[in-house]
Amino acid sequence: MVKVVHYRDKCIGCNACVEADPGRWRMSRKDGKSTLVGGTEKNGIYMTTAGDDEYQSIRIAAQNCPVKIIKTEKIQ
Ligand code: SF4
Repeated sequence: MVKVVHYRDKCIGCNACVEADPGRWRMSRKDGKSTLVGGTEKNGIYMTTAGDDEYQSIRIAAQNCPVKIIKTEKIQ
C-alpha cells in the first residue's frame, strides 16, 4: 500500500501532477487547484491510500510538483 498526502492549500494549480498521473489527480474548476482523487480531507490536508502499482506514478507526480506539497510513502 501507498499513502498519499496532499497539502492542497499551497497548490498553485500548475497541472504537473495531473500530467504525471491523470488517474489520481484532477484540476478543480472551482478554485483552479488540483484534487487528489479518492482523498479525504482533514484540516485542509487530503490523504488517501493506493495500491503498490501506483507508487511509481505517484512518486513522479510528487517529484514534479514545484512546491513539493505531495508526499508519498509505502505503508504496510
Ligand atoms: S503539481 Fe503541485 S502545485 Fe502543481 S497542481 Fe499538482 S499539487 Fe498543485
